Amino acid sequence: MLESLRTIVQEVNAAKDFGEVLKLIVHLVKQVTKTGTCSVYLYNPEDDNYVLMATDGLNPDAVGKVHLSSRQGLVGLVAAKAEPINLEEAEAHPNFAFIPETGEQRFRSFLGAPIIHHRKVLGVLVVQEQEKRRFDESEESFLVTISAQLAGVIAHADATGELDRLIHPREGVWERVYPGVASAPGVAIGSVVVVAPSADLNVVPLRHVEDIESELCQFRQAMEQTKRDMHALDKSMVGKLSDEERALFDVYVRMLDDHALGGEVVSLIEEGICAQSAWSQVVLRHIRMFKSMTDAYLRERASDVEDLGRRVLAYLQQSETKRTTYPDRMVMVGEELSAASFADVPLEKVAAIVSVKGSRNSHMAILGRAIGIPTVMGVVDLPWASLEAQEVIVDGHIGQVIVAPREEILETYIQQIYEEKLLAADLEKLTDEPCVTTDGHQIALWVNTGLRLDALLSLDRGAEGVGLYRTEIPFLMLDRFPSEEEQRKSYREQLEMFAPRTVTMRTLDIGGDKDLPYFPIEEANPFLGWRGIRICLDHPEIFLVQLRAMMRASEGLNNLSILLPMISNLAELESALELIYQVYDELTEEEGYEIEMPNVGAMIEVPAAVFQIREIARRVDFLSVGTNDLAQYLLAVDRNNPRVADLYQTCHPSLLRALCHISEGARGENTPVSVCGEMAGDPIGAVLLMALGYRVLSMSATNLLKVKAILRQVSLAEAEALLEEVMLMPDAQSILAHMETALKRPEIIGLFSRTKVH
Ligand code: PEP
Ligand code: MG
Repeated sequence: MLESLRTIVQEVNAAKDFGEVLKLIVHLVKQVTKTGTCSVYLYNPEDDNYVLMATDGLNPDAVGKVHLSSRQGLVGLVAAKAEPINLEEAEAHPNFAFIPETGEQRFRSFLGAPIIHHRKVLGVLVVQEQEKRRFDESEESFLVTISAQLAGVIAHADATGELDRLIHPREGVWERVYPGVASAPGVAIGSVVVVAPSADLNVVPLRHVEDIESELCQFRQAMEQTKRDMHALDKSMVGKLSDEERALFDVYVRMLDDHALGGEVVSLIEEGICAQSAWSQVVLRHIRMFKSMTDAYLRERASDVEDLGRRVLAYLQQSETKRTTYPDRMVMVGEELSAASFADVPLEKVAAIVSVKGSRNSHMAILGRAIGIPTVMGVVDLPWASLEAQEVIVDGHIGQVIVAPREEILETYIQQIYEEKLLAADLEKLTDEPCVTTDGHQIALWVNTGLRLDALLSLDRGAEGVGLYRTEIPFLMLDRFPSEEEQRKSYREQLEMFAPRTVTMRTLDIGGDKDLPYFPIEEANPFLGWRGIRICLDHPEIFLVQLRAMMRASEGLNNLSILLPMISNLAELESALELIYQVYDELTEEEGYEIEMPNVGAMIEVPAAVFQIREIARRVDFLSVGTNDLAQYLLAVDRNNPRVADLYQTCHPSLLRALCHISEGARGENTPVSVCGEMAGDPIGAVLLMALGYRVLSMSATNLLKVKAILRQVSLAEAEALLEEVMLMPDAQSILAHMETALKRPEIIGLFSRTKVH
């Protein structure tokens, strides 16, 4: 049974569409259980009935036509009770009903299992037999297991609209709405460009081509190159491997022949599919086939096919001419986009970013916000590889991607884009206005930077300083560590751009989800592992070079502050401070630089630091609260995991209490404290932070004017009164709702407007 289960899961994964999955399941379940009939009924919310959606055994014409309520027949009973029903003498059961439309013969035995997802009955999976038969326990648990697997597939199909399309087939292109995590505000309509990593068979985007000859030619070349490699490998192994073992290379070469894999690929290319995608489709199909074989030796061959597949794909990707034309409004779509994905595309054309993995606080999302590009992360159901060149709407406010939108939806969004432009123009009028509350309290609005572009944007928006320059971002764009001189130059550029305003440079904060391609860190729990200051202290050669580059860059400007990330104990802080003083002394006393000692601060982003706030505050010139990580660590919610994105709440009462403790601790030591996490750039978050005592807020440039607009509309006294009220509330939802209601006023209504389209 386990083997059959594995096969079913593989076949299901390989199936192209949802209808095909259902057909496959009923077919395979019927085979495995050796019954006369297997069928799937799915819940249709429109008539509150269960509709026969696939069958092997009943009349195929009945599919889509037979609707049963939860009071009808044994199928209805399984759904109503939400538990399996196993009957040897079905006809004797009071709920037995004969449904002639299904074309069923009178059956005697019945086994039905509910298909349940998140406590909701989505359908019923049934096997039935004309003969008298007792389905045994293992058959019953097999059906329950398949139903549980099927539940995930159905929920996915529901999210993507496939379920609806199957139950209500209609003509024409279908609009599909994919939910994700709202990660950078704004709306964009554009054409998809799929960004895929290399030599990975599973992530080859499906592209259609017109120049079939050129694809065939690329494919043949890649085959020839791989065959040559195989022959060379074969020769180099003479004497090292036995003749039998070496025979494998021969098998590889034969697999590439026209009457084997090669031939299938050529046919697909001739249908207009690009060589890379044709190759990956064929290879993946063969891998699945080998994996499902019962013979252990043959199953093992799957990895040979995979290896061969990767080799050919690498050649195909090499021969691919680098893309030079991009649509003017391109939507970057990928499975796991990272900062490095920007390296290959013209940034000025990027209208939106969509990533299947990641969440609001992934670094890609932070970059999206920094540059002002609508971003939706964690769109887990998106069939991203097949979206090349499709028109999509990306809604970064509520987090959704709409593929093939209907005319009315397009119009709604075109109107929204227009209104947002008006709001932006309105906000721009505030650029030179001070950020002062209605009762005269000044709040300093600083910016977070990392790219040259966001620094420029920040200057346009009237930033009063840089509260966080993420130095790892330029590091992420390279293929090796930058030299001291390279670093000095880029730091100098930032410092010059903002002088005389302060630029707070954070020392290298890699690890977690920020992996340098040339310094990979493999860990089971990267956010709890080797990250931030921990890496820098273990690699003083990297840390010292960076500190030297920063201080040398500040010569003559003296507007540098240095910020230490991920401090979780005093020893780390003291060791880092020692190295900073050491560099300063070397530069000024031994090398003759005339530099003022920069202010040095610590990030408060780990709960341990919150509870040692006074000890830390005493040792540094300033503190900066990183709410992104503090929320992640305090709430035990991965900032990148879309499954738990709803639990990532910056208005959580515990986080507000921690922020209060930090603010009071810093005040007690007379140490300036700012906030540089994303909460500072959220209009409601900013009001709360001001009320909590924070007077310097550092945020993405795109949020600066929105935050200024709201702070100019409230008084500190009002914000403090609101804080007092929300501090008594039990959860983030109530706090957020209360704040929104209290702060919605005509002058700033645009800051809260959101449209949900379904
Ligand atoms: C934070 O954690 O809040 C922060 C500002 O740092 P980063 O997002 O770069 O981890
Ligand atoms: Mg952080």
